[in-house]
Amino acid sequence: MEKIETLIIHKGRNPKKSSGMVNPPIYKSSTIIYPTVEEFLKDDYPIHTDKTYGRTGTPTTAMLEELLAELSGSDHAIVTASGMAAITVSLLTFLRAGDHVLATDAIYKCTRRLLDDELQKLNITHTYFNPNITTDIEKLIQPNTKVIFLESPGSNTFEIQDIQTICKIAKKHNIITIVDNSWGTPLLSQPIKWGADVVLESATKYISGSSDTFMGFIAVNKKHFKNVHNTFVNLGAITTPDNCYTILRSLRSLPTRLKQHQENAIVVAKFLESHKKIEQVFYPPLPSFSGHKKWKKYFSGASSVFSFVVKTNSDKQLYKFIDNLKLFAVGLSWGGYESLIIPINIATRIERFAPVFKGKLIRIHIGLENPSDLVLDLNNALKNI
Ligand SMILES: *Cc1c(COP(=O)(O)O)cnc(C)c1O
Repeated sequence: MEKIETLIIHKGRNPKKSSGMVNPPIYKSSTIIYPTVEEFLKDDYPIHTDKTYGRTGTPTTAMLEELLAELSGSDHAIVTASGMAAITVSLLTFLRAGDHVLATDAIYKCTRRLLDDELQKLNITHTYFNPNITTDIEKLIQPNTKVIFLESPGSNTFEIQDIQTICKIAKKHNIITIVDNSWGTPLLSQPIKWGADVVLESATKYISGSSDTFMGFIAVNKKHFKNVHNTFVNLGAITTPDNCYTILRSLRSLPTRLKQHQENAIVVAKFLESHKKIEQVFYPPLPSFSGHKKWKKYFSGASSVFSFVVKTNSDKQLYKFIDNLKLFAVGLSWGGYESLIIPINIATRIERFAPVFKGKLIRIHIGLENPSDLVLDLNNALKNI
């Protein structure tokens, strides 16, 4: 098979079928016309194709889904309105009232809210587990546990999960594993290959790369595709053909962007690690990081969002440091071309599962600026600590 950089350029488009146009056209339609009544009536399960009603997508959607499946190493991909829509669809496909979910404690904040608020309302309960758990997960399984939800690395503290071990135990108990792979993207990590049933990602982050488009996607093998797709259609969690076009365009440059993001982030992370006002850096490629070995097993590279601890107890000093940065903007999300920074509060975590440190935790996203400018900027602003 061709290498990923080649595949991402040549798949997901078909100039011969689109009047020679390099990129696939944006097909927009809710209604799709049938040639005859007979053909209309014989479509016994029309929502499973992209030729019958626009809510399942149009040929533009199909082009993107085909490419995402190929990159993820899965039989199918389904694109959704946002990363959160992908998470909601994945969970609701496999859960009903009375069921129980095991979820990593280093979970994305909105996924936590989905479990704590929305699923709780439907009488679906959950238990959070230590993100560094391995075989001990077996002890947490209840008779009604139906789903194990993983996110690797974990949000804000970047624990790498032992996906292979957890998926193996889950299979033994007939439990579905769902993995949030937003940090790695399908280019750096393919959890389907380690035995995950469903892999989902926020394409809003690195895949878009421009901080302007919401999208999520679900990668799934044949065995569960029909179920997941059915829930997806029933919930109406669709994205637009325009967004599919935008994301397809962004995908072509993802390998190149990710390489540069990683190169820049390593320069900045090493600088921070050596700075006397920094206590710790949570970035998987650093040999000093506790999950470094697992990262080497599960990932072929790193993206550029990580966190670090500043040696101070003063919020005032911390805010002064951040506000004095000229190249890092204060804002949510990551994966765009521009650098971002925010203070992180991990108070919602279960205390015994959270890392212990002295100081203030900060999350940083390293953009595509020249890393020496970013280092200079941080070095100057750290004088406020
Ligand atoms: C941002 C994010 C999401 C949600 O994605 P949206 O596209 O913003 O809905 C899910 N998981 C992780 C780990 C994220 O960082």
